[in-house]
Amino acid sequence: MIPSWWQHTTQHHPQREQDARSIRESWDILDQSVTSISGKKQNTTIASTSTNKSVQIHTLSNTINVMLIAWIQQTSLVDYPDKIACIVFTPGCNLRCRFCHNPALVLPWLIAATEPIPNDVFFNFLEQRKWLIDAVVISWWEPTLQSDLIDFCRTIKEKWFLVKLDTNGRDPTIVTSLLEQKLIDYIAMDSKIDHAQRLTLLQSKEHIHPYQQTMDILIHDNHGCDYEFRTTLMKPYHTRENFVAMLRLIQWAKNYYLQTYRPETTLDPDFDGVALTYDEMKEFQTLAQDYVQKCMIRY
Ligand code: SF4
Repeated sequence: MIPSWWQHTTQHHPQREQDARSIRESWDILDQSVTSISGKKQNTTIASTSTNKSVQIHTLSNTINVMLIAWIQQTSLVDYPDKIACIVFTPGCNLRCRFCHNPALVLPWLIAATEPIPNDVFFNFLEQRKWLIDAVVISWWEPTLQSDLIDFCRTIKEKWFLVKLDTNGRDPTIVTSLLEQKLIDYIAMDSKIDHAQRLTLLQSKEHIHPYQQTMDILIHDNHGCDYEFRTTLMKPYHTRENFVAMLRLIQWAKNYYLQTYRPETTLDPDFDGVALTYDEMKEFQTLAQDYVQKCMIRY
């Protein structure tokens, strides 16, 4: 069923009403496909990601020319290096990482319960915070699914704020466009796992190619934009062997962060990953230092 907030965003806009009608059918197809894949819609059982389904998600987002904002964190001192930022969270993701700690913004039937924040409310908030915050972080669950992302970044830049994008790297074309137009100042991309483990950990059958392409763009063709890669480490999924395989994908990267895993809520309720100790993370850091320019730990 289409979320009520999409209906809300289309009110009094004939074109959007038409768009809403055309996406309603797509949303139902998506909803049904997820239900049939998971078989247990009500208890948030993990659903496999098919290419077909992720295309549908993208199509849905594409048909509404408005940035979908699930919620705003008013202040953060840690999400943009050395800056005070607010965070805009966008709903929807093409992946289904088993360890994802916010399924409410990933699984369509949970997103449907989210009431969106209208764009003008966000921009009014930004105006009021002009002298208090330096930057806007556009964050999970996957902002590049939003068709209005580029214009949204442009509007923020016109207000003289820095912009940081958090992405899983699914769309190198949008990333390139943002970099070329200088609409982002910092980009953080997840480097989750080596090729072999994608299906196990991410439940993703998508081809690795676009993700690798985004990594290469950030390392070799970033148009002067600062960037980082980051990995949430967990046992038993990250081993020395697959960690090194993953490091080869981001060789020469400027900044690489190792993050600690938070097991409280996971998209797959049966996920059995365990956080590493600080000493164990230090061992991975030592390994990484041979491949990237700078490796740091967020613990
Ligand atoms: S961890 Fe990130 S990429 Fe994975 S499902 Fe959650 S939001 Fe998507």
